[in-house]
Amino acid sequence: MATVKKKKLKKSAKILLFLGILIVVLISVPVGYRLYHGSRLGKLHYDKAAIQTILKKHKQSYVYEVGENKTINAAFQSKDYQEKNLKIYQEVPYQEQKDLIKNINLLVAKEYTTPEISAIVSRGNNEEVSAFAKRDKEEDVLDFLQFDYAKLANYDRYVAYSMQEREDDDDTVTYVNLNLDKPYYEDAQKVTEQSLTMLVNKYHQLGEDYEPKDLMKIQEKYAVDDEQFMIKEAVIAFEEMAAEAEKEGYSILANSAYRSYQDQQDTYDLYLNTYGQKYVDNYVAVPGYSEHQTGLALDVASGNSKIFADSKEYNWMLENSYKFGFVMRYPKSEEQVTGYKYESWHYRYLGKELAKKVYDSELTYDEYYARFLDR
Ligand SMILES: [Zn+2]
Repeated sequence: MATVKKKKLKKSAKILLFLGILIVVLISVPVGYRLYHGSRLGKLHYDKAAIQTILKKHKQSYVYEVGENKTINAAFQSKDYQEKNLKIYQEVPYQEQKDLIKNINLLVAKEYTTPEISAIVSRGNNEEVSAFAKRDKEEDVLDFLQFDYAKLANYDRYVAYSMQEREDDDDTVTYVNLNLDKPYYEDAQKVTEQSLTMLVNKYHQLGEDYEPKDLMKIQEKYAVDDEQFMIKEAVIAFEEMAAEAEKEGYSILANSAYRSYQDQQDTYDLYLNTYGQKYVDNYVAVPGYSEHQTGLALDVASGNSKIFADSKEYNWMLENSYKFGFVMRYPKSEEQVTGYKYESWHYRYLGKELAKKVYDSELTYDEYYARFLDR
């Protein structure tokens, strides 16, 4: 009897052991499976919440094929995820937007193509994209939104300006971004920060109290009087340029450099009283809108000729000034863009690197700014 009992005990112990092993295996296989894929997906920078959904939906092989993809990562974390749009999520460049996935779905439903959706979500913020996604479908959005400097918020203005002005699409986008579809000074942007790239024009305005830091006097031998100031870096560059020109037999002088808000007010009033409104509208900046207030602009003169445009210095400046960091600011036939009639004498300091880029681009600084710097 005792041996039978022992055998029975042995048998049940074996069963228990087997059951124990089975339970361990049943638990550890899925845990291991999850750990394995979790770490593989984690290495591709998928977040925990995304990984959970990916595994729940058995999408891991698909995701391994895609590899690292921030939009897919966002899609699998979003309550708006739609299986049928997975391929589109994959192709749309990721944007830091709360409603990115929801908006992609809306745009897909409106039958926008994937390149169109990519452009739309890339050219605005969450609010702007959300508003656009709710609108009726716009045809040919890529005409304007193909340009990386296009702004979704300006879309209707591009359409209106294009119908009115019939410019090339890249110019339409550039000009509207510069506010050229509005009257001068309307909705002008306040410029408060000093930088070499700062844009001041009839739509970008300095305050009455804006005064550049680091103003320095230009040596009298390179100026018409001893009252000409620019910011230090520009003075050094200007004197270097004037010295180089001198070596080659040219005489370039600073005629009018930094002007304070009050100086500009006095200049404006003087010219207004002397020459009238039409003249000042074409040639004299309204106080706050003058580039001279930045301390980065100057009017040059020739030491050899009274009329700068007729001087040999004029040609020397055209060919060489960019090498020293200066560009002509109001070129011929660009009045529509710059808001100023041709000024052969007005130059702007941008630093050597940027001046060369602007010179090579053959754009006015306003256009260059709208296309490459206004982000
Ligand atoms: Zn000037």
